[in-house]
Amino acid sequence: TNGVVIVGAGHAGVQAAASLREEGYEGPVVLIGDEEELPYHKPPLSKTFIKDPEAKPQPLRGEAFYTGNTIDYRPGVRIESIDAGARRLEVAGGGKLAFDRLVLATGSRPRLLKLDGAGLAGVVSLRSLADARLIRELSARSQDVVILGGGFIGLEIAATVRAAGRNVTVVEAVDRLLGRAVAPVIAAHVRQRLEAIGVRILTGTTVARLEGEGGRVSAAITSGGERLPAQMVIIGIGVVPNVELAEAVGLAIGNGIRVDQHMQSSVPEILAIGDAASYRHWFTGGDVRLESVQNATDQARLAARSILGHAEPFMAVPWFWSDIGDMKLQMVGLTQGGDHHVVLGDLAENKFSIYHYAGNRLLGIESVNRPADHMLGRKMLGAGFSPTPQTVAGGPDALKAALA
Ligand code: FAD
Repeated sequence: TNGVVIVGAGHAGVQAAASLREEGYEGPVVLIGDEEELPYHKPPLSKTFIKDPEAKPQPLRGEAFYTGNTIDYRPGVRIESIDAGARRLEVAGGGKLAFDRLVLATGSRPRLLKLDGAGLAGVVSLRSLADARLIRELSARSQDVVILGGGFIGLEIAATVRAAGRNVTVVEAVDRLLGRAVAPVIAAHVRQRLEAIGVRILTGTTVARLEGEGGRVSAAITSGGERLPAQMVIIGIGVVPNVELAEAVGLAIGNGIRVDQHMQSSVPEILAIGDAASYRHWFTGGDVRLESVQNATDQARLAARSILGHAEPFMAVPWFWSDIGDMKLQMVGLTQGGDHHVVLGDLAENKFSIYHYAGNRLLGIESVNRPADHMLGRKMLGAGFSPTPQTVAGGPDALKAALA
């Protein structure tokens, strides 16, 4: 037997290897990753790592985990193509690798921007540890930083770099921050707090071009013609899923590698999980591709069970967090399609939660510095329980009583 080969050693791939062993799989498990280091946690990269010159990457699992569980981790190896008929992978630089089952956990990569000057030194984006090291180094010698994109990663970096005393300008094309992700109330709150610490935020604005001196970026010119000095420009305008391997072998693709509720792609022996996979979501009935640690690890657990012949569908409750300066944002559920909401707590105190409803169905909760609401929300949504808006207004005790 050739066992299971997992391509991509990020949050999803490492969890898939771990879950295969936890579930009792005894065949070979090969974990392939094109980065050199031990697989590491990505979320700290935009939060703590870039502000502390001494910070070390945080491994997802220690070295002993791989040897102790006979997981054949192969760092620095890139898979170039899949031969589905022969069940074989082509390794970049030569060599082949056979599999019985293949798990694609290839993740996503930053969306590029076609922009004059995008190739200048000092223009960067953040996905990997190598990127974070570069940003940390550049930010140490950049007084002026321009960030393109007002999404989670851009704003996390903005707060971090501002706290280190840099002049930070965020340029966002649409008229609000965090457009895809949270309610307007939260977006406005985040904006106000970032502005209060001196981050300049330009919404409804794009960058027309970047200027350089001696091959290094020196300024960003906005669509309004303003010249923003910048020794570092960070592009944070979202990611695209790494689907090329899957696409070349004819797997169904649609904003990601299409999988069913068992993480199975359109080719029976190939599964896909994490940022790279898209699926029909049980909660909304719509197609989604989620980019979160929770989604990656829960899908990995399910994929391992599905390889072992368990047929339960994927029904994990989606959740996500982001730390932006002094705001811990936590989201649970999927709130698109909501028609009204209830606010608990106090915006002025920087502690509140928003409960989103469609009719009388609770869709999700977005919290700022109210972790207990988030945890309770995970329980409620996991149990398929929708408290009435009146119960929500009664606060955490009323909610706990109703859930019990
Ligand atoms: P990845 O972790 O991206 O792993 C994919 C791996 O596959 C990569 O190492 C890639 O190089 C490798 N690979 C791709 N193609 C090949 C190939 N052909 N051959 C070999 N290897 C290949 N999520 C949260 O929930 N909360 C947060 O606060 C949060 N913060 C984040 C901050 C940053 C800076 C970033 C970048 C992400 C953050 N995320 C956060 C998102 C979260 O990290 C991702 O959703 C998660 O990493 C997805 O896991 P994955 O395994 O699908 O992909």
